[in-house]
Amino acid sequence: MIADEQLRYFVRHRAKFACGYCGVSETDCGGELTIDHFKPRSKGGADDQENLVYCCVRCNLYKSDFWPVSPEATQLWNPRHELFENHFVVSGNGMLEALTEEGALSLKILRLNRPSLIEHRLIEKQLLLFWRFLLVGSRLTSSTYDLLVRQAELIVDSREVLEPKDTAPPT
Ligand SMILES: [Zn+2]
Repeated sequence: MIADEQLRYFVRHRAKFACGYCGVSETDCGGELTIDHFKPRSKGGADDQENLVYCCVRCNLYKSDFWPVSPEATQLWNPRHELFENHFVVSGNGMLEALTEEGALSLKILRLNRPSLIEHRLIEKQLLLFWRFLLVGSRLTSSTYDLLVRQAELIVDSREVLEPKDTAPPT
């Protein structure tokens, strides 16, 4: 538990109020998420912001105090330093597939193909398809169409449009 409210807010805001590992947002979960120590405190990890990952309850529970037994062992994917796309790809049926050893380990440890996450990915994909369908029927120029599709993708990616109201920094 991070008692420092300003640090907690910083970590939440930096993560756009969504889990760094699986991507579900506070809005999806109906409340604040947790803060994970990427290197667990039990293994010497600090409360430093560089070691903190905003994290949903499930990912935090599954990750627990996992830490590689040696520097040579396969490492867990660190969402703070490495792009999701470098380690995973989402298949058409919503399943996550690993592209690297780190991705495979993370997928297993964090159980990133839990049924609710697969459903979540499919809903986001349908939302994008719906936007595209609406835009195709509206006879826009191709440049305007591309711009609006990109905007829709950004909304789904960032979820800032769904940002909760109680996110003002503590005073
Ligand atoms: Zn998560």
